[in-house]
Amino acid sequence: MDGITIALSKGRIFDETLPLLAAAGIVPEESPEQSRKLIIGTNGAKTRLIIVRASDVPTYVQYGAADLGVAGKDVLIEHGGAGLYQPLDLGIAKCRMMVAVPDGFDYENAIRQGARLRIATKYLKTAREHFAAKGVHADLIKLYGSMELAPLVGLSDAIVDLVSSGATLKANRLTAVEHIMDISSRLVVNQAALKLKRDRLDPVLAAFRNAVGQNS
Ligand code: ATP
Ligand code: MG
Repeated sequence: MDGITIALSKGRIFDETLPLLAAAGIVPEESPEQSRKLIIGTNGAKTRLIIVRASDVPTYVQYGAADLGVAGKDVLIEHGGAGLYQPLDLGIAKCRMMVAVPDGFDYENAIRQGARLRIATKYLKTAREHFAAKGVHADLIKLYGSMELAPLVGLSDAIVDLVSSGATLKANRLTAVEHIMDISSRLVVNQAALKLKRDRLDPVLAAFRNAVGQNS
C-alpha cells in the first residue's frame, strides 16, 4: 500500500485522536463504535485506519502493518519499543500508574518490615522495575483486567494499575499508596516507513505536532 495506515484502539484513544486527525485533514468514514469494521476508510483515498487492541498497536507498527499509531506509555513500556520511533507525546488519555492496596492495609509498614508482597497487575515490566528500584520483594501475578478485584479476594496484597478519577478504587475500597508515573499516549511511527514514506508522513506528523502545541 503506498498510502498510509494508522493503528488506533477503540474508545478513548480513538475519540481523543479524532481532533488530531482532523487537524491533519483526515476524517474517518465511520466510527468503530458503530461499524464492526476493523479497517476504516477516510476522506483521503490513501489513508486508512485499522482498529486493534490498545496493547497491540505497537506490534502492528513495529512490523510495518501500520505506518503509525497511537499508544499509551503504559503499553509502550510493556512492548519495549523495538522498531518504533516515538516523536511526539500527544498529551491524550492521561492517567497515572499507581500502587493501590485495600483500605487500611499498612503498605509503608509492610515495606519497612521487608515483607514479600504479592502484586497483581497487567503491567509486569513497569511493576518489576518499580519494586526492584525500591528494593521491595515483589511476587508478580499477571492479570489481563479488573485488577481491583485481586486484593479483595486474596489473590494479591496490592495492585499496580492505571488510575484517573480514582472512582473504581473507591468503589472497591482500595487506596492508592504510590504514584509510579504519569501516563499519556504517544504517536508511534514505524522506523522504516519514516524513511520510505517521508513525503506522506511528514505532513501528518507536522499537523499532529502543531495540534498538540509542540514545535520541536
Ligand atoms: P482493553 O480495553 O482492550 O483491555 P485497555 O484497557 O488498555 O485495553 P483502553 O481502556 O482503551 O484500553 O486504554 C487505552 C489507553 O488509555 C491505555 O493504554 C492507557 O494509556 C490509557 N488509559 C487507560 N485507562 C485510562 C483512564 N481511566 N483514563 C485515562 N486514560 C486511560
Ligand atoms: Mg481499559
